[in-house]
Amino acid sequence: MHLDTLTLRVAFAVVAFTLALLFYFAAYRSTRSPYSAWWCIALTLFLAGSASYLFNGTVHQVWANPLGNYLLIAGATCVWAGARSLRASRPRAWQLAAGPAVVTVSSALENPAVNVWSGGAVFLALMSLMLGLASRELWRLEPGYSRVRIPLAIAAGFFSAYYFCRLVVYVGEGPDGSVFVTYFGSAVTTLVTMVLLVVVSFSMAALSSEQQTRALRAVATQDGLTGLLNRSAFMELASDELQRLRRTRALGSLILADIDHFKAVNDTYGHAAGDVALQSFASACNDTVRSTDLVGRYGGEEFIFLLPGVNPDRAEAITAEINRQLKSLRGPGGSRMPTASYGIAPVGHGTAGLEDLIATADAALYQAKSLGRNRTVRGIHAS
Ligand code: GH3
Ligand code: MG
Ligand code: MG
Repeated sequence: MHLDTLTLRVAFAVVAFTLALLFYFAAYRSTRSPYSAWWCIALTLFLAGSASYLFNGTVHQVWANPLGNYLLIAGATCVWAGARSLRASRPRAWQLAAGPAVVTVSSALENPAVNVWSGGAVFLALMSLMLGLASRELWRLEPGYSRVRIPLAIAAGFFSAYYFCRLVVYVGEGPDGSVFVTYFGSAVTTLVTMVLLVVVSFSMAALSSEQQTRALRAVATQDGLTGLLNRSAFMELASDELQRLRRTRALGSLILADIDHFKAVNDTYGHAAGDVALQSFASACNDTVRSTDLVGRYGGEEFIFLLPGVNPDRAEAITAEINRQLKSLRGPGGSRMPTASYGIAPVGHGTAGLEDLIATADAALYQAKSLGRNRTVRGIHAS
């Protein structure tokens, strides 16, 4: 079977163009995520690069051949940058510019007017390197990050290995050698690349939809103002956690917090300033508890915590620490931050359900308010 390079390149250009368009509208426009932007740019560069090679054999080859190398290495660099953006690391400008610059110079030095393989060895080495680095970035993602992490890492790794083999055979027998032409020449490579572009685009689209679902779920469980859990998410997670505590016969504490005289803050400084004070209070809470504790906004200026493994003494120390942090913060209009009152309900063996714990904490909180506010009261063990 003879594969005709020109026909394959045209087919490749059509596939890359279609994928770039599809990906732009289906994934990038809805997620605006850096990796989908990088992948769109990479597809466009691959498209432009292979279009440049169409000038091979014409008088334009002298500039089009180095340009093609430049564009394809720039595309591979974007694949790496996209993989890296999944770990939230930004590439530096020199990291993006180095590969394309090196291949252009080496191509220009190897007589591109007549040599369609000008800069060939450097081109193959850089392709292998950038795709290998992309694969490495994907392997380094957390295992639970996405279902498509492994397929993407394997695709990039396979491609890197393929280019490495091309490099070895190219250096060994040159671009006209029989092994190179049969297994690693332009025609076979174009075909393999086409298949991989489809595989990667499909995986990337799956990744975008996973991320959208995750983002929607986060929005549905979060309180919009403070970023803490909203009431229903807290109740759901806390019920599960309580069951776990009961099963393992572990202790814990539930705390209800209510900001003191908060209405006066709104009345004096305005509702917007009140919102900022709520956000400060929420971040003081977040900074004080462990990442495994549950913290939610229970209602207006009321907050709720479930602290597994924390006894009432420790819970009281935690409320004191939140109060200490509040003191160090500036409130609305440069004033002092309002204080808060807390009611603690101990979670013990044979503790009743979540509703009962909340009722106990609420009664303790009410007592804290009657005793003059800015204090913590422990409720009677609900059992
Ligand atoms: P106490 O010490 O007894 O708790 O007095 P308080 O003024 O804090 O309590 P009250 O329940 O009378 O007032 C709560 C106020 O919280 C009234 C309401 O306008 C305000 N509030 C509730 N939600 C928000 C919000 O999202 N933003 C702002 N700025 N204010 C809110
Ligand atoms: Mg209140
Ligand atoms: Mg209040």
